[in-house]
Amino acid sequence: MLYTCSKCKINSGVFKRSYSGETLCKSCFLLSIENKTLHTISKYSMIGYGERIAVGVSGGKDSLTLLSILKKILKKNNSNDIIAITVDEGIENYRDESILIVKNHCDAINIPLKIFSYHDLFGTSMDEAMFQRPSKKLSSCSICGTFRRRALDIAAKSVSADVVATAHNLDDHIQTFMINLFSGDVDRIGWMYPTPIEYDTGLKKIKPFLELYENEIVFYAFHSGIEFQAEQCPYMNESIRSDFRKFFNELEKAHPGIKYNCYNAVNKLSKMIQNSRPTSPLYLKKVCSKCGNMCNNEVCSVCKTIFLLETK
Ligand code: SF4
Ligand code: ZN
Repeated sequence: MLYTCSKCKINSGVFKRSYSGETLCKSCFLLSIENKTLHTISKYSMIGYGERIAVGVSGGKDSLTLLSILKKILKKNNSNDIIAITVDEGIENYRDESILIVKNHCDAINIPLKIFSYHDLFGTSMDEAMFQRPSKKLSSCSICGTFRRRALDIAAKSVSADVVATAHNLDDHIQTFMINLFSGDVDRIGWMYPTPIEYDTGLKKIKPFLELYENEIVFYAFHSGIEFQAEQCPYMNESIRSDFRKFFNELEKAHPGIKYNCYNAVNKLSKMIQNSRPTSPLYLKKVCSKCGNMCNNEVCSVCKTIFLLETK
């Protein structure tokens, strides 16, 4: 049974925030999520005055909620334009539905939308790539993640954005840490600190939901009437991310707040790695000899992936 709201002390609680011990009513809960998002944005200097923001929107609960919250909280100072960008990976019977949901949501809250497809950008769709890949060792999500990062860069440039916002949450962040740790990629942990990395082009990549649990975002979407795609990507289970997701959810059930502790530890470690390796190759930018994009090797990961798919 839930008690009276810990904030307003009037309404009945509908959400128990187990890591803080608070019980919140619907309106205090919704406000707390908007305030937490604003707090994260200002704590890590994510958005500046007058900057144009492109929000990556997939049609899932996180990204649609991010778009709605940014629209709401940034309306107050009225200095930032927002545009939604959607990447169509080319996954039949999955992405088509979500694109429709995104279009309806953007129309409803009056935000312009631009759609970019892997097929147009890279000459292949995810469905095609799954047939073309040389072996299952090249996992669906690693192909997709490599293409998506580049697609968002291209999309942001094409809409003249200063900032790209994505809806990665606290759960995503600690799962990514585990993936990096277990693949031995310590340098990547150095990239994980929440302060946005500003690229040579001036583009900033930000994650305003980084301090929110995934279940809080679902609850927000549900209680503010945001319709989202519940169906999961058919290629999702290939990723080790699903295993870490289950692992952390089990731990959190037994030890409320453990995800939050892990989040703080990840950021401290990330900062230490950044500070200890100022001359790491991670920070030495090169230019891809094939496509001319900035990267850390002779050939960028997108060109390497396309090469692997074409030479099966
Ligand atoms: Fe792409 Fe993997 Fe996400 Fe599916 S689950 S959309 S393959 S990153
Ligand atoms: Zn390249």
